[in-house]
Amino acid sequence: MESLRTHYSIDVTSKEFGKIISVAGWIEDIRNIGSIAFIILRDRKGTLQITALKKQHKEIFDKLVNISRESVISVEGLCQQSDKARNGYEIIPNEVNILSNAETPLPLGVVDKIESELETRLDNRFIDLRKQEIQAIFKIRNEIIAAVHEYLRKEHFIEVHTPNIIASSSEGGTDVFKLKYFEKEAFLAQSPQLYKQMLMSTGLDRVYEIAWYFRAEEHNTRRHLNESTAVDLEMAFIKDEEDVMKILENLVYNMWKRASLCKEELDILNQKVTVPKLPFKRVKYDDVIDNLNKNNCNLQWGADLGSEEEKLLGEIMKKQGHEFYFITKYPIEAKPFYTMPEEEKYSRGFDLACKGVEIASGSQRIHDVDLLINRLNACNLNPKDFESYLKAFRFGMPPHGGFGFGIERFLMNLLDIKNIRECILFPRDRTRLTP
Ligand code: ATP
Ligand code: MG
Repeated sequence: MESLRTHYSIDVTSKEFGKIISVAGWIEDIRNIGSIAFIILRDRKGTLQITALKKQHKEIFDKLVNISRESVISVEGLCQQSDKARNGYEIIPNEVNILSNAETPLPLGVVDKIESELETRLDNRFIDLRKQEIQAIFKIRNEIIAAVHEYLRKEHFIEVHTPNIIASSSEGGTDVFKLKYFEKEAFLAQSPQLYKQMLMSTGLDRVYEIAWYFRAEEHNTRRHLNESTAVDLEMAFIKDEEDVMKILENLVYNMWKRASLCKEELDILNQKVTVPKLPFKRVKYDDVIDNLNKNNCNLQWGADLGSEEEKLLGEIMKKQGHEFYFITKYPIEAKPFYTMPEEEKYSRGFDLACKGVEIASGSQRIHDVDLLINRLNACNLNPKDFESYLKAFRFGMPPHGGFGFGIERFLMNLLDIKNIRECILFPRDRTRLTP
C-alpha cells in the first residue's frame, strides 16, 4: 500500500501551483451551492479549500458533498492559485478516498460559534483537541518543556525517572491514593521528593524530573488536579535556599521567553506574553502577613495563605510592579517535614507566586538524619515508614535543596487560562476518571 505520509501537512507554496498534489485531513465544513461545492479540509498545518465542480466531475462532486463533517479523507488534485480561497489556492479534486467516516451528529462542534460547556468539551476531549486554539495550548506546552530540558541541561542537571508506586507518602499528610500492591499496601507518589533527595547522596548531585503528582485532594478547585505534572528538581552542595531560587527564577525566565517566541499560537489565543525581569522580588513571610493584615486580612502567624489571601497579595505586589515574587522564610510548621528549619520557628522554605497564584514551592532540605527523624515525629509521621529513605542520609549526604514547579499552574498563568483542566490533555479531578 502506498504510504499515507506523503499526504500529510504539505507546505503549499506557489511552487505547487499547476501541479497535482495529495492532501489528507478532516472535513471541517462543506458548502454546497448547487453547481459548486467548497470543502474545507483541516490538517496539522491548518485548513485548505477543495473546490468541486458538479459539471466537471459529477461523481466526485456527489461523493464529497455527501461525506459527514469530521470524516477523514485524502484528495488528489490540481493545486491552483485562487484569490477567493482562504489561503490563496484551492485544490480541484480528481480522486477522493474516504479513510474514516465520522458518525452523525457530532458530540461537539469543532468550528461552531456556540461555546460548549467545559464538561461537554472534556467528555469529548478528542474532538475538543481538534480546535486550533486548544492545540495551541499544547504546542506552547511542548515548547516550554523543551526550554526546561535546554536550560537545565546547560546547567548540568540530568533528567531522571523515579518510581510512582511507593511504600510511604512522599509529602506527608492524608492526600495520598492508596493501592494494593500484591500482599502489601502502596501509594501513588505525591511527588518524587524522597527519591530525588536519595539521589543527592549518590554523586548525581543535580537532577530533575518532569514528574507526575498524584494527590487525593478532595476539593474541586479551578487550580487543582488530582493528577498533575511538575518540574521537580534537586541540587546538592548548596549554601542555602537562595542557590535554589536562582535556578528556579532563571528556569521560569527561560520558559517564559521560549513561550514568547510562539507567535502563531499566541495570536490564535489572542495572548501577549511579556518576558519577566530578573531577579524576582523576595518578600519574607512575616512581611507578607503584616502587609495582608494591614489590608483587612486576619491572618495568624504560622498559617499558610489561602487562595483569597494569595490573590490579594498578588494585587498588592502588582501595584509595586512585581508579577513574580518569592515568599521566603516560611514558618517551619507551614512546610513539609523535610524542610530545613531556621532559628526557632522559621524555615528555609519558599514559594514562588505569579499574579497571586503559587506556582512553585521549594527549600533547602534537612540533610542531618537525626534532625530529619525529629521533624518526622513532629509532623506525626512514623520514621519506621521512612527507613529506606532515612538510610540514604546515614552514609554521607551533602547539603541540598530543590523545588517542585507545577506545569499546568504555569500554563494557566502564562496564557491567562481560568481553569487548570484546560492545561492538561485528559484531566483527573474529584469526579472525572474518563476519558
Ligand atoms: P497548593 O497550596 O496550591 O495546593 P501545594 O503547596 O500543596 O499547592 P506543593 O506540594 O508545594 O503544592 O507542590 C509544588 C507545586 O506543584 C505547586 O506550587 C503547584 O504549582 C503544583 N501543584 C501541587 N499540587 C497541585 C495540584 N493538586 N494540581 C495542580 N498543581 C499542583
Ligand atoms: Mg506549596
